Amino acid sequence: MNYEGLSKSDVLRLLKEYLKEDFTYDSGRILGSMCTSPHAFARRIFIKAIDKNLGDAGLFPGAMKLEQEAISMIGSLLSKPDTSGYIVSGGTEANLMAMWVARNLAEKDRPEVIVPESAHFSFDKAANLLGLKLVKIGLNENYQVRTKAVERAINKNTVAIVGIAGSTELGVVDPISELSEIALNNGIYLHVDASFGGFVLPFMKDLGYNVPDFDFSLKGVCSITIDPHKMGLAPIPAGGILFRDKEYIKSVSIKVPYLSGGEQTQGTILGTRSGASAIAVWALLKYMGRKGYQRVVKRCMDLTNVIVKRVKRSKKIYLITNPTMNIVGLSSYSLDPKQLADRLRKRGWAISATRTHIRLVIMPHVKRKHIIEFLSDLEELA
Ligand SMILES: *Cc1c(COP(=O)(O)O)cnc(C)c1O
Repeated sequence: MNYEGLSKSDVLRLLKEYLKEDFTYDSGRILGSMCTSPHAFARRIFIKAIDKNLGDAGLFPGAMKLEQEAISMIGSLLSKPDTSGYIVSGGTEANLMAMWVARNLAEKDRPEVIVPESAHFSFDKAANLLGLKLVKIGLNENYQVRTKAVERAINKNTVAIVGIAGSTELGVVDPISELSEIALNNGIYLHVDASFGGFVLPFMKDLGYNVPDFDFSLKGVCSITIDPHKMGLAPIPAGGILFRDKEYIKSVSIKVPYLSGGEQTQGTILGTRSGASAIAVWALLKYMGRKGYQRVVKRCMDLTNVIVKRVKRSKKIYLITNPTMNIVGLSSYSLDPKQLADRLRKRGWAISATRTHIRLVIMPHVKRKHIIEFLSDLEELA
């Protein structure tokens, strides 16, 4: 660390130097990220609210109320406005919260959680932190969890079942209604990871797409992860964890005596936490309305359909599965996914590759011209 402070202009110059290496959303080159450029209005609100600390609710009752209203608005998207939860740092923390609650509610000696093989790696982290055994279940030909196998995997140690509404790799929705039945029949906690899909599926349904039930309308669903900082257009960090019953949160709550706002209970993992995130989410939901998000999702789906049509005509590339939402899995007949992704990266495209495919996430910063250019590079390089 330097002893004398630098001038602001020197600091800014240095920052510019470092940050010019980064990809930018407006270049249209980021095709493999679930995040996007946050909405301009939400940025403004975020900066205004930068000093709000939801870790000391007594000092910031207004911010607290906005967080609860944001949760309620998100709950209404998920068929339950009277839900409880928090705006957290992201899907990882939300999934960790859900697993923490499920483990504590069940009070088993050797807790096990049943997850699809397609589950996000945040469940591996949660299992490691919470001392859970993860039981991974294989997928069917549509890349959804095999529900019969889920049922067979239940034993006396099972504390939760996880279903995914929009898998990270392919955007696939598991048969959540079947998982809900299984969970109810066995008295087991069901968590739905709609980190990505939560801000897509309800609007697709509005637009007339055939969307399976995945939310609190299914009686077995106990909690849902839904990320405003993905398709919700909110600034990072903004995740959401919603619980069917506010009593669940008591299983992880502790009393905090010394805060300046007076004695409180806290049910979050973090202590000091960003009020700006929650307030920006509130403002954005109010400003966009359901209709605003419908427009965003429609644009992303229309572009996704451009890709699908083009790939179906190609002799060099094919779809892994017909996309459920704005995530497309592609592969080449001649190259393995890593090779293909490398070639595309050399042309400046930020693309992620899995063992089986390259993945495109058609986020709001992606424009038609970017897709046309990408498809032409893809056809040439594959
Ligand atoms: C993105 C994602 C996560 C993790 O969310 P972060 O905000 O990156 O922590 C978890 N589950 C699914 C299905 C995701 O797509």
